[in-house]
Amino acid sequence: MNTCENYSTSSIQIFIIICSHLTPWDLLSLLKTCHKFHDYLYSTISSTTQLIWKTSRLNTIFFPKIPPPSGLNEREYCCILMIEKGCQFCGRKGSRDVRIYWTFRVRSCWDCLMNRTICIESGNEIPEYASGLPFTKFRLNGMYGSEYMVFWADSIKRSKNEFDNLSKIERFEWLKNSKQKAKEIEIDTIYREELDQKLYDLTLYHKKCQIFLYYELLASESNSNGKLLYNRYLLDICPFLNEVMLLPNHLFAQIDYDRWKNKMLEEYRIIEMERRIIPKRYNQIKERLVYSPLYKRPAIYWIPYCPSYKSPPYHNNDARIPWDDKFLDKVLVPTIMKEAILCVKQAEDAVFVLKLIEDILCMRIKSVRDALMYELGCEDIYIELDIKTVRNFLKTCSNHWFWHGIYPYKLPDDLAIVLANRRLIWWN
Ligand SMILES: [Zn+2]
Repeated sequence: MNTCENYSTSSIQIFIIICSHLTPWDLLSLLKTCHKFHDYLYSTISSTTQLIWKTSRLNTIFFPKIPPPSGLNEREYCCILMIEKGCQFCGRKGSRDVRIYWTFRVRSCWDCLMNRTICIESGNEIPEYASGLPFTKFRLNGMYGSEYMVFWADSIKRSKNEFDNLSKIERFEWLKNSKQKAKEIEIDTIYREELDQKLYDLTLYHKKCQIFLYYELLASESNSNGKLLYNRYLLDICPFLNEVMLLPNHLFAQIDYDRWKNKMLEEYRIIEMERRIIPKRYNQIKERLVYSPLYKRPAIYWIPYCPSYKSPPYHNNDARIPWDDKFLDKVLVPTIMKEAILCVKQAEDAVFVLKLIEDILCMRIKSVRDALMYELGCEDIYIELDIKTVRNFLKTCSNHWFWHGIYPYKLPDDLAIVLANRRLIWWN
């Protein structure tokens, strides 16, 4: 390699072999890791460098197989194709208005393109020096607005300089050559734009096929008895199955079967736990609960709020291990029922306390100002609070509190003393 004469042939050969297995995205990352790799991969004159990028491009499904357009080397070509890197000028990513403009050989967002181009309305005169430049056409003011010829501003400047320094006879030949080149670029652009669309469709198709293959592989995995390990219905509802298709190409290219499977199984196990395993354990509890001597109203209404029911003690913290009947009858079910009975007691106390609060507050609240002081009112909307409103408010809040145990407003001090005197130990 021309730029790296101080490295032994063998180390360069090893480097080339490694690079032949990497994607252009990997090469770009590698290029930034150290000076040595930068020299290997950035050279514009080394044919080996060009070969490395070309091999990588041809081996990566998401890159076109046709050679770069004139004026771009293999590395520059690959970099322009990396649409997921966003606008090459401002770096804006993920926006649908970032496109490759093959006429100008740039990957740009609309704003950056407009900042770097000169637009001349069709029909208007083009300066002679610009008449041999490639341009693209846009309607800048909607579908029915005028058509504009869009030129790359730097090219116009360079063209003018060159043109001014030529004699009249030289200008004729110069313009002829420029027009010929522009024509070639125009044909090339049409070809590449069509190809970009095809490549986009092909990319999507390739992604679908790959994921379909992975899916079938996973769904057909079985244990030593030939029993399938995973349920297709649960696999189908794993979010990653669809999310993986939305990954940008450079990230999708990193997904091999093992990575895909690990991520899928992570979600699969959570879904399996929620939809299959935990309901099974609850069925176990429910079946034994009805035989409990304590299973009576109103305690049964409080069962869903009992801590031991909400998060029951699984063997080894693993919900997949079923409980035996002895544990259910002697430990878990009696604990849940005891907690439910305590809830009934707390609910009765709560009814008493809330009646007390209601009476005291209704006596006190006379105006909106008072209401705000007790944090009952709303600061944004003016509400004329009367006793009836207060009662309704308390009813809503107390229902909420009654069911969830979350006290909705700050207690007045004298009320707290009343409560303390009643010695409700569970009250904080
Ligand atoms: Zn931009």
